[in-house]
Amino acid sequence: MSPGSSTESYPAFAHIGLRENPEKILNQVTCPDRDSNPGHLVSQPDALTVTPQEGLSSSKWRDAIKMNANVAPVRSLHGRSLDGFRCGYCNEIETLAHVLGSCQHGELLRYSRHHNISKLIAQALRKRSFEVHEEVHCVASEGGGIRRADIVALDKTNSKGIILDPTVRFEMSQTQPSEVNKEKQQIYEPTIPYFREKYQMEGTWEVHGLMIGARGTIPRSTVNTIKTFGTHDIIPKIITSSIKGSVAILKNHLYGIS
Ligand SMILES: [Zn+2]
Repeated sequence: MSPGSSTESYPAFAHIGLRENPEKILNQVTCPDRDSNPGHLVSQPDALTVTPQEGLSSSKWRDAIKMNANVAPVRSLHGRSLDGFRCGYCNEIETLAHVLGSCQHGELLRYSRHHNISKLIAQALRKRSFEVHEEVHCVASEGGGIRRADIVALDKTNSKGIILDPTVRFEMSQTQPSEVNKEKQQIYEPTIPYFREKYQMEGTWEVHGLMIGARGTIPRSTVNTIKTFGTHDIIPKIITSSIKGSVAILKNHLYGIS
């Protein structure tokens, strides 16, 4: 089962809240020890440097903080529901991770959240003179079947091809970004021979699975990869976009509005 798709595998998330453990949560949000923890999920703080003036209304900002502190009013939050802790749409345990990451009710909005972030990255790469193709159907070698790559960027000057798959996941562990990267490499590396031929580019090819946190966190590995393309100015926009998308999913789930 992929990270973010299970409600059973991270029960602790359902029970952490400001009221239960305020110091721990506030430390997570405001006192990161990023530089001494390479690979650490960076961006509780980065997310919180995005202000409403940078694209989030005050109410979305409030919702973002609630999500980061795990006090968004989902049913599994202690004391928040008189109707039990199961999701009203699919009967899974209604954690925030379930709502943002796997409930079928949010599927279209989840697609939209992913699509918007993917577009931001594609546009930034174009500005950096990459030739960019989006949502490209491709064929994996050795009978691996048809796949679809979110972004294929070609650096024709240096004969380099890059396959990128931005992936929004509910933040769970420090190893999650490298797991997402490996998962995507396993999916897309078998398509490299196809792309070599399709674009007539024999040079080096690489695959990056870029994890973006559903609550606006960005792992250092994602930041570093984006920096290598000279497109790091889009990082705040990605954070804002992820938060906006997740707030829409949450509101749609809780109140039927987005
Ligand atoms: Zn559900």
